[in-house]
Amino acid sequence: MKVTQVVRHFVIFIICLFILPLWGITAQADSENNGADVLVIGVPADRCPVFYLDPETKETVGIGVDLMRAAAEEAGYTAAFRVIAEKTNKEALDSPEYDIIMPFGSEIKSSSGKETIVTENLIQTPFTMVTNGNNKLPVLHESHIGMLSSLAGGAETVKQLYPGIGITLYDTMPECVKALRSGEVDALLHNSYVWSYVLQKPSYSDLKVQPATMFSMDFRAGTLDTPEGRAVIDRLNTGIDKLTDTRKQAIVLDYTSRRLYQYDFWDYIYEYRFILLSGTILFALFIIGIVHMQRKVHRQQEEKIRELKERDPLTGVLNLEGFKKRVEELLLAHPENQYLLSFSNIKNFKFINESMGRETGDELLRFWTQKSTATFSDEEAMGRITGDRFAVLRKLADAEQMSRDEKEVFEPLRNYFIDRGKEIQLQICTGVYAITPEDHKNIDVDRMLDYARMAEKKARATLKTGYEFYNPEQWEKGKQIVDISGHLPAALQTGEIQVWYQPQVDYTTGVVSGAEALCRWKHAKLGWISPGVFIPTLEETGMIFDLDSFVWDKVCQDLHRWNQEGKRRSVSVNLSRSDIREDRNIPGIFYELIKKYDLDPEQLRIEITETAYVENPGFLIQTTSELREYGFQVEMDDFGSGYSSLHMLKEVPVDRIKMDLHFLTGTGDMEKSRIIITQVIKMIELLGMKLIAEGVETKAQADFLKERGCQEMQGYYFYKPMPVEDFEKAQG
Ligand code: C2E
Ligand code: MG
Ligand code: MG
Repeated sequence: MKVTQVVRHFVIFIICLFILPLWGITAQADSENNGADVLVIGVPADRCPVFYLDPETKETVGIGVDLMRAAAEEAGYTAAFRVIAEKTNKEALDSPEYDIIMPFGSEIKSSSGKETIVTENLIQTPFTMVTNGNNKLPVLHESHIGMLSSLAGGAETVKQLYPGIGITLYDTMPECVKALRSGEVDALLHNSYVWSYVLQKPSYSDLKVQPATMFSMDFRAGTLDTPEGRAVIDRLNTGIDKLTDTRKQAIVLDYTSRRLYQYDFWDYIYEYRFILLSGTILFALFIIGIVHMQRKVHRQQEEKIRELKERDPLTGVLNLEGFKKRVEELLLAHPENQYLLSFSNIKNFKFINESMGRETGDELLRFWTQKSTATFSDEEAMGRITGDRFAVLRKLADAEQMSRDEKEVFEPLRNYFIDRGKEIQLQICTGVYAITPEDHKNIDVDRMLDYARMAEKKARATLKTGYEFYNPEQWEKGKQIVDISGHLPAALQTGEIQVWYQPQVDYTTGVVSGAEALCRWKHAKLGWISPGVFIPTLEETGMIFDLDSFVWDKVCQDLHRWNQEGKRRSVSVNLSRSDIREDRNIPGIFYELIKKYDLDPEQLRIEITETAYVENPGFLIQTTSELREYGFQVEMDDFGSGYSSLHMLKEVPVDRIKMDLHFLTGTGDMEKSRIIITQVIKMIELLGMKLIAEGVETKAQADFLKERGCQEMQGYYFYKPMPVEDFEKAQG
């Protein structure tokens, strides 16, 4: 072969190399188009498994898509599916974007009102109702159902099939379900294939498919009724005719047997809600546990630090700082306690330390604190101030408390060395400050310690050993408070306290018109004590209310008994000024009492002392008004004893004034007293109030009062206060 031939062959080879592939591409393109027309089919994409987007390829797929593609291919079309952008299929019909739209059940008008034409039926689609749980299946003709608005065409077909049915369209499936759950609609309607997908959602497990309501709807494609439209429909129909039932069933089966439903985030949350909830609770408990532990550890650490800061390492009792703090706490927490604060010191401690060594001295101090604290309650404290100086806050349980302490603590302490065979007696000096009620309010521990220290100095100067009081009067008073207030609960129980009655008389007729209840106390230790002693003490400690409640109850019991015996009486009871507090509903208490004992309110007269009105007029006037609203009689006791201005008489709404002769006749010019009494009687009468005179001791007084217009009287001239039995006898 010549070179030219070789070159020619090479050129031909190269040409073939370039030309042949081009020819191949054109051939392939020809075969692809194959003369086939592209048919743009508008479909929805939110109806899995009929029409939906493949999550991986993002292509439009589903039963409807495959059926239509098969029919289109049979008709010689290349099917191109486009997701409908319009809200409904009816609107999509008016869009030039699509050649045909699907799905349709039958011919409907486009949204602009144009006529349409539809293909042959591709397949019968079963439609089923879904109801809420076990709700009864509604009668279709009368029911109200919900459908997706994209099925507006289908809704029209349903209306034609079931006239009388009510249909509401919703944009999304969650809205449909919400309407069903709230009872807005009786059931939801959709094709069964879609339900088979939608109901896989875990939170829709309460929805129930009602197979009995199933009916079939055609599944067609449609377009505007135009010459071109009709041509497309005719051609498609040839393809549809060619689809065998087996093929259609295969397509349906392919999609309905796949597990297409994909869980979203909320589905997972719903599915695992119980696990998540228990997990959250466990986690919360865990966190709470940790926080609690941390707090506990923190508290313990704080406690330890406090211990270190506030404890005396040698004896284990508090140091000065700790003691002061604890005293403050205790005085605040226990205002009811009568406390003594003492300061003690061993006079000859220096000698002991020097002669017997520090060790022995330390032992002695430890012995002292152990002996003392062994007798303590939680409401008491001991502190080491310096060296051999100790302070103690001690609660006065009774008047014998100090002699007991003397025996149990100080005697063994004084004899510490004697008991150990050495001839040395300790000299202990103690100063005592009796804490006053005022100290509970204005707590100044340094000042109290100073007072105790001053008393201790006095003891040291005057005594070899023993104690001195800074304020002995307060100590006496303290003892009395303890004897009276401390003993009151027991006295109320054991009958030491009795209610006596002092009759009140109408002097003109001589008839007993009432009585005043006065209490009497035969104290186990102190004997008869006068109300003049124990009432102020109980008022000071706030315990008067316990006593008065007892008296009121006892009086009501007696009144009830007399009522039953047919002897209807009225009794005046005393209401202390300390009883009247804003947090205590006094009118309510009296009302409960008369209900309990079935009494009339006017059988109880309530005496409130005049001075109380001066101290707290606003609240007292309110209480008085409320008492009178209930029907009780209110009396102003001891009129003339206080400093009330006459203007009070105008303000205070009482029924009766109890004029105390003591205060009006006790001292001074008798003639002036008579003038005052005369004028008071006149004034009270003019003010429209009732009047009773108390403290009437002589006939002369009684006659004078009667002459001036005051008939009601109470006093020794008539009767002294007497036990209930005597009172009953005196009245027959
Ligand atoms: P009060 O309410 O003014 O009672 C009248 C007091 O005068 C009584 O004293 C009574 O025994 C006394 N008295 C009556 N007639 C005469 C008389 O002709 N001459 C003299 N000198 N005195 C007479 P008592 O029983 O010692 O009570 C004193 C005060 O104690 C009472 O004064 C009252 O304020 C109070 N009190 C008595 N019992 C109670 C009670 O149960 N509760 C309350 N809160 N206070 C009471
Ligand atoms: Mg009274
Ligand atoms: Mg009185």
